[in-house]
Amino acid sequence: MLQTVIIGGGVMGLSIARQLNAQGRHIHIIDRSTPRMNASYAAGGMLGAQNEFFEDTPLYRLAMASRAMMPDIAQQLLMETDIDIELQTYGLIKVATTAQHVPAVKKQFEFLSQQDHKIYELSRHQLRARFPHCNIDDCAAFKIHDDGQINANLYTQALLQSVSNLLHIDLHIQTEVLQIMEHASHYRVTTSKGDVYADELIIAAGAWSGALLQQLGMNLPTQPVKGDVKLIESSYSQLKETIFNMNGCYIVPKKPNRFLIGATSELDNWSTQNKAENLQWLDAESQSMIPDLCEHRVIKTWTGIRPITPDGVPIMGALRDNLYISTGHYRNGILLSPIVGQLMAQLVDGRTSAAQQLKPFSPIK
Ligand SMILES: Cc1cc2nc3c(=O)[nH]c(=O)nc-3n(C[C@H](O)[C@H](O)[C@H](O)COP(=O)(O)OP(=O)(O)OC[C@H]3O[C@@H](n4cnc5c(N)ncnc54)[C@H](O)[C@@H]3O)c2cc1C
Repeated sequence: MLQTVIIGGGVMGLSIARQLNAQGRHIHIIDRSTPRMNASYAAGGMLGAQNEFFEDTPLYRLAMASRAMMPDIAQQLLMETDIDIELQTYGLIKVATTAQHVPAVKKQFEFLSQQDHKIYELSRHQLRARFPHCNIDDCAAFKIHDDGQINANLYTQALLQSVSNLLHIDLHIQTEVLQIMEHASHYRVTTSKGDVYADELIIAAGAWSGALLQQLGMNLPTQPVKGDVKLIESSYSQLKETIFNMNGCYIVPKKPNRFLIGATSELDNWSTQNKAENLQWLDAESQSMIPDLCEHRVIKTWTGIRPITPDGVPIMGALRDNLYISTGHYRNGILLSPIVGQLMAQLVDGRTSAAQQLKPFSPIK
């Protein structure tokens, strides 16, 4: 029986494990499960396949395909685990509320509206109604119908529950990988709870993937981008769509009467502590867009570490016959996880069509 080890139990590692062919294979997922030392549980849950792109790229195409997979995944996870990942499909408004960001919104609208005729620009009247405290002359916005959202925390929990139900998968939680050594045709993975031997090794350890690969003498740097997030409760009931400001602040309506306000972005910051000034920025920016959110109760605040690569493009593919990597999904890992799980699993199973689709993201240039 082939022993397959996946390092990382975030949405990437879990999605790959869930889709890997069980035939002749035993899978071990190893995760240190340290609170706040991951991205998946911390994410806003936006499925921003259009929100995040300004041009047609291989990643944009993967994102669009992945977004389309999410309704089925939500259904499957509900059946398998009883966890509702709270898929909402009310769309997203992309907005600039300062003159500085208006050209970027206009440019993105130009690209997206050629691809999708349902996307429309908000009129001055609509802008004034939506953003009453903003100077309309310095604003621009458009509505994307199909960018939905899920509860990323519940999604990650559901994936974890789903794989833990599978007999061919062993979950090694609260287990830290300390060392990886190559031994002839396999790898010895030394963990805080003993050694695990791998015939196939998949590194999906988020922002920590680069450091793990270095142990095998390979240099594929991954960096952290820390984000602060805040969840509030408010009686404001006029918002169903996500609002995403070009300056990075977004408001994602969650159930019931809750709003997830995100997120700051600090490159090369591994801290897992909220910074007071970052939370103040989230308050100021969200309330400048929706003044009614001034009246709220804070449910909680948290941080997450997004994995990014130097050129911002995820790295996904084979490094050798039995060594694979999937990381660097930065702000879009929740959105991309359905298709990445599928393609990476097919790649490990030797499917050439998956290798072809993942070619633009190959770790070997
Ligand atoms: C604030 C914030 C908001 C976001 N919002 C969105 C959004 O709205 N939409 C979207 O699509 N994406 C969003 N993202 C991005 C998304 O969360 C990430 O791209 C995605 O979760 C990355 O998944 P991953 O599995 O690669 O990494 P992670 O979730 O970080 O998982 C990696 C795992 O590896 C484990 N690990 C690392 N090193 C070791 C080791 N040595 N031993 C054992 N285990 C180890 C960690 O414990 C961790 O669980 C957001 C991220 C953040 C932080």
